[in-house]
Amino acid sequence: MEPRNLTLEPTVTFSNSQMPALITNTGQKIPQLGLGVYKVTPDIGVDLVRLAIGNGYRRIDTAALYDNEPEIGAGVRTSGVDREELFVTTKIWNDRQGYPEVFDAVEESLNRLNIGYLDMLLIHWPAPAQGKFVETWRAFEELLDKGRVRGIGVSNFNPEHIEELIESSNVIPAINQVELHPGLQQAEVRAINQKFGILTEAWSPLARARMNDEGVIQSISSRTGKTPAQVILRWHIQLGNLVIPKSSNPDRLSENIDVFDFELTETDMASIATLENGNRIGPNPADFS
Ligand code: NDP
Repeated sequence: MEPRNLTLEPTVTFSNSQMPALITNTGQKIPQLGLGVYKVTPDIGVDLVRLAIGNGYRRIDTAALYDNEPEIGAGVRTSGVDREELFVTTKIWNDRQGYPEVFDAVEESLNRLNIGYLDMLLIHWPAPAQGKFVETWRAFEELLDKGRVRGIGVSNFNPEHIEELIESSNVIPAINQVELHPGLQQAEVRAINQKFGILTEAWSPLARARMNDEGVIQSISSRTGKTPAQVILRWHIQLGNLVIPKSSNPDRLSENIDVFDFELTETDMASIATLENGNRIGPNPADFS
């Protein structure tokens, strides 16, 4: 018998074939569930990314703001999984918007990540008071055209920002990443995204664990034998959202990806929909610069 390997190994080996991919309006395939790394500190970044990839995660969502791009990139490079099988997103912070200023910001992110190319580049917030998101997008279109990035999208765009962007540009964003969880279901944003063929991606999909004790979630959890977080993540999956839960905890990392072996009923989906309360975790994008 072979000796057991007692080094740190993924606690669950997730079968990647079970995870659906969504297809963007330019034909990119995006694994529906990925790892968010906001507040993942540099000291654990490399190990966390390697562990996540070992557990079956194939997508990582970072940002210049998160101050961990070098560690995320190192984790990707040393994961043992081909770069082409992984999907990495980063975002440009508000103070780097503008044409031509944003080009330098993107090169800096690419250098920090050091993974050859970006799968997805997002405008982090529309910051409408600055009035620069349309010119920033023009630079994004050029970066896409030149192949520096493989996909471009936006984040925190309200319907009015999406409409203004589309009226004044050539390329429709591939995704719009917004705050979205059972307390803030973003019906209007989802509708306009759908109208223009933009994928909706949910940030703070677990509402930072604030809704785990809701009776509706608890009762579905008891019936299905799944945790509250898994119930909420499954709700996102069945709504067709891209979803990027964050965890720095190995057990919760495994738990959050283990949502492809059960289904919520229509009644479950309708019950979770009653949890809408309009409360945001982050600011309203209309007011944030
Ligand atoms: P999440 O809704 O993903 O919640 C993360 C929090 O919930 C952490 O405190 C985590 O703690 C805890 N948690 C994770 N899994 C579980 C679980 N199974 N059970 C109980 N608690 C759990 O919030 P985030 O704000 O981190 O959003 C996710 C990602 O979205 C970010 O990491 C980032 O990539 C992106 N984002 C984008 C924004 C934007 O403006 N575009 C804004 C904010 C986030 P622990 O780590 O200890 O497990």
